Amino acid sequence: MATNETPQWANQVAQACLTQFQSLPKKGKPTMREGRPSAWTVLAGVVLENPEGQFCCVALGTGLKCLPESRLTTDGNVLHDAHAEVVARRSFLRYLYHQVQAALDTYIYDQSIFVAQESSVEAPSRRVLKLRNPAYKFHFYTSKIPCGDASMDKITQYDLLDAAKLQPNEQGPSDATTKQDSAHQAALQDIEPVTKKRRITNQVNHCLPFCRGRDNPHCLTALRTKPARKDAERTTSMSCSDKLMLWNAVGIQSALLSFFIEPIFLESVVIGEPFNHDAVAMALGGRLAPLLDDTAPIRLHKPKLVRATVKFPFQEPVGEDSASVLLSDSAIGWYYGSRESEVIVNGRRQGAVPDKQGKFSLKCRSRLCKRALWEEGFLVIFRPWLQRAKTEGWPRPELFESESRRLTYRETKQLATEYFEAKTWLYTNACRHWVRAPVSTESFIINDDQLWLDYICNV
Ligand SMILES: [Zn+2]
Repeated sequence: MATNETPQWANQVAQACLTQFQSLPKKGKPTMREGRPSAWTVLAGVVLENPEGQFCCVALGTGLKCLPESRLTTDGNVLHDAHAEVVARRSFLRYLYHQVQAALDTYIYDQSIFVAQESSVEAPSRRVLKLRNPAYKFHFYTSKIPCGDASMDKITQYDLLDAAKLQPNEQGPSDATTKQDSAHQAALQDIEPVTKKRRITNQVNHCLPFCRGRDNPHCLTALRTKPARKDAERTTSMSCSDKLMLWNAVGIQSALLSFFIEPIFLESVVIGEPFNHDAVAMALGGRLAPLLDDTAPIRLHKPKLVRATVKFPFQEPVGEDSASVLLSDSAIGWYYGSRESEVIVNGRRQGAVPDKQGKFSLKCRSRLCKRALWEEGFLVIFRPWLQRAKTEGWPRPELFESESRRLTYRETKQLATEYFEAKTWLYTNACRHWVRAPVSTESFIINDDQLWLDYICNV
C-alpha cells in the first residue's frame, strides 16, 4: 500500500519534534552554511497527544553512531547505542520516571500523566499507577526509515557499491582508483536487482533469520545488528527496526517501569521520508505475528505507519550533495522536564576526558546510560514508593522483599515478571537469534552506599 496522503496529525507529530529540536542550544547540532548542512543526522522523538488533540513533544534524540563490541563496558556508564531512535526512547524513559515521581508526590501528583490505581491499597497489584486519562496517545517520530529490516527494501545499488568501495585495498595508493572501479564492477555483477528480493522466514525452526548489518541484503524479515561500514569493527547492538518491533511486542516502557505502570504502546510511527508501507509494517511487527503461537505471552501492537512531509533540515542528503556532507559524530538527548539537553560523543558526555589513570569520572557519563537510568529509577521512583508502602499500606516492590544483598542491574530487571517473561519467550522462540548484550555488561550493582542504605532502611 502506498502512503500517498499525509494526515494532518502526522505532520503535527513531526512538527512538534522539529520545533523542540530547533529550540535546543546549538551544541551538538550540525551547522547550516549557505543553505547546506555541515553534516547529516537522524532526529527521533516521542510525542504525547492529549484527549483534546494537542501534540506535545516529550522526548527527543538525534544520532547515528553505535559503539563496536570491543568498546562495551561492564560498569554501565557508557551508552553503547546512540542511534536517534534509541536516544529518544531512553530520553522518554527519563520523562516517564519523572511523571511517576510526580504521581507519587503528595504535592504535585495532579501534574502527572499518571494517577494511583484506586485498587492499589485493597488489591495487591504491583502496578500502582495508571494513565490519568486512557485517551492519552504516544506517537513516535523518526526523520529516516529505521535501520535494519525496514530499510533493507530501500537499499539501492548505490549503497551496495558504496560498501564495495570500502573493501580492503591490497594495492598501493596509486592503484586505488582502478582497484575501486574494478571492485565496483565486481559488486555490480554480484548484485541481484532489488526487485528479485525474496522474503525468507525460517519456518522450520519457527524463528526469524539473522544477518549481520547489511549482509545478505536480499534476505527480508531478518533480525539484524546495526549496520556498519564494511571495514569497521562489528557491533552487538540490534537494529532500530528490531528494537521498534520489540517495543511493539512488550511495550516501550522498559523493565524497571513495568513495576509501576501498564505497558505503553505506540499509537503511530511517523517517518519523515518516503517509505514502502508494507516493508516497514513487516519489519515493525508483521514478520513476528505469524510466529506467535498460543504459548506466547505477547500482545503484538500495530502502530499506524504514516509519512510526514515536513522536512528535517539535517536529513541525509541524496544525489550530488551526498558525497560532501559528513555524518554527525554527536548525539543529542532531551526530555520534557530536563533542565537542558545533553550531547553524547562516543558513548559519554561531550568533552569527557579521562584522568591520568585513564578512568572517566561519573560526570563524564550520559544520563541515558544503563547505570544512570537505574540509579535515577531508585532515586525518584523506588524511594517514594517505599515511603508510600510504609505509610499508606501500598504493596511493596518485590525487589526488597527478601534480598539482603544488592541485586545486579540484570537481576533487578528480571523481577519485572510479566515483562521479563515476554522477552524471555521471544529470545527463546521467534527471536532466538537476537544478539543480547553479554551478561557482564549488566552485572553491575549500585555502589552508592547511601543510596542503597536508604532503601534497606525504608524496608
Ligand atoms: Zn538505527
